[in-house]
Amino acid sequence: MDEAERKRLIEAMAQTVIAHAEELTELDRQIGDGDHGLNMKRGFEAVLETLPATAAQPLPEALKGVGTTLVMKVGGASGPLYGTFFLALAKTMPDTPTAAALAEAFAAAVEAVKARGKSQAGQKTMLDVLVPVAAVLSAGGEGLRSRVRTEALAAAEATRPMKAIRGRASFLGERSIGHLDPGARSSALMIAAVCDAIGG
Ligand code: ADP
Ligand code: MG
Repeated sequence: MDEAERKRLIEAMAQTVIAHAEELTELDRQIGDGDHGLNMKRGFEAVLETLPATAAQPLPEALKGVGTTLVMKVGGASGPLYGTFFLALAKTMPDTPTAAALAEAFAAAVEAVKARGKSQAGQKTMLDVLVPVAAVLSAGGEGLRSRVRTEALAAAEATRPMKAIRGRASFLGERSIGHLDPGARSSALMIAAVCDAIGG
């Protein structure tokens, strides 16, 4: 993967998070403390500031750079979790991944988030997007990019009827039902943005 492609993918993720900051914050206002969009925007603005240097490095180092910045800048519950995700990706991702290598690295990163969050799919968190996307990636096959994109967005929507059992939203119990999980939505937005930008 060349520098221009690394730059395009990281920038696409950052821009979509920044563009949707208000929406993410509003979702977090419904079932959390209303800071998710702000947290993520702060983190990805910092990612953009160092993007030229980050994108100049091979993919594993670039992902490590993104993860480190997110850990330092995002804060809240999501900062360490997204940081963990990118740092774990960095450990297993080759510089130019095949579909199989991407699936393997993504799966390892999802496992790292589960361990860090002591959480799993079905608890109304970002894992309700990350886990099904990992499954689509592992299954592989034709039209993977558009299937991953569709799965990510649909999986985030599917958190609406769920009851939160992890994170701040779990304090609401039954009252968390009927709202989209902010972290599931931010995960879906980032995945969709990468799908749109890849190879472009
Ligand atoms: P905070 O809840 O500390 O204010 P954010 O608002 O930035 O942090 O992020 C909230 C999101 O983090 C939730 O919507 C959820 O998707 C995710 N999250 C919280 N706790 C966990 C956990 N234990 N495992 C996985 N994801 C989690
Ligand atoms: Mg919050």
